Amino acid sequence: MTAPQVTPLRATIDRLSIPGMVDVHTHFMPEPVLAKVWKFFDAVEERTGNAWPITYRGDEEERLAQLRGFGVIAFTSMLYPHKPGMAAWLNGWSADFASRTPDCLHTATFFAEESAGADVADALAAGARVFKSHIQVGDYDPRDPLLDPVWGQLEDAGTPIVIHCGSGPDAGRFTGPGPVAEVLRRFPQLQLVIAHMGAPEYSEFLDLAEDHDRVHLDTTMAFHDFMEQLAPFPVAERGRLVALGDRILFGSDFPNIPYPYEEAVAAVVGLDLGDGWLRAVLHDNGARMFGL
Ligand SMILES: [Zn+2]
Repeated sequence: MTAPQVTPLRATIDRLSIPGMVDVHTHFMPEPVLAKVWKFFDAVEERTGNAWPITYRGDEEERLAQLRGFGVIAFTSMLYPHKPGMAAWLNGWSADFASRTPDCLHTATFFAEESAGADVADALAAGARVFKSHIQVGDYDPRDPLLDPVWGQLEDAGTPIVIHCGSGPDAGRFTGPGPVAEVLRRFPQLQLVIAHMGAPEYSEFLDLAEDHDRVHLDTTMAFHDFMEQLAPFPVAERGRLVALGDRILFGSDFPNIPYPYEEAVAAVVGLDLGDGWLRAVLHDNGARMFGL
């Protein structure tokens, strides 16, 4: 008789006595949009010389089964427009996706356009629990006055916004800590979740989190060799990860990652910051944020 197979992820989850992992940064989108995203990553090698082979290219049902198989009990459907006129359509799709996917946290997005305030009001009324903003792909200025009603409503509602505003892997006109810091001066209670730990401006975004106690960071792709080669996390800053342990959330970028999901978790476990820290990052902080 062979012993039942225990995957390394299941062993970690059991050791920490958590019901599973909360992954705050996963991508589910309408199929044509996801196809375009995959095409973008397929072309990365031609553009930069570094391949970005996406590991999980199955259909939606298969990807959901994979994510649950890793021990993920709550996740998001991060989606984001690259031009005006798309946000309401994307939000309609993600509302439907959340309604047929109970373990997905209803996710919404917006763009710097006339309808931004109304788009966010509609999404909040429909039950959105988390928003996504992509400053590099969207190529909008987070300080754009068109976004004032967005930040105002999300600050009032206390709804978290996962925001890709670091300058990695590609810098944009409005990426980096400066513009977001200005937004936070005007909307200090915004619950921003800085994606990718703010790579490559790790130290500056840790400063921002220290200055604003509702600013969080997600671990998406950080600490893995793939990202370490592009933008290494400064070893000297590890102590600050401990100090901010209640505001760091696990994220993976599933399915668009060029390595197995297990390695994303292993990169965070490998920081060796203690089981208490790990329990908070893999589960407790996300559970608290979303009231799970
Ligand atoms: Zn992402």
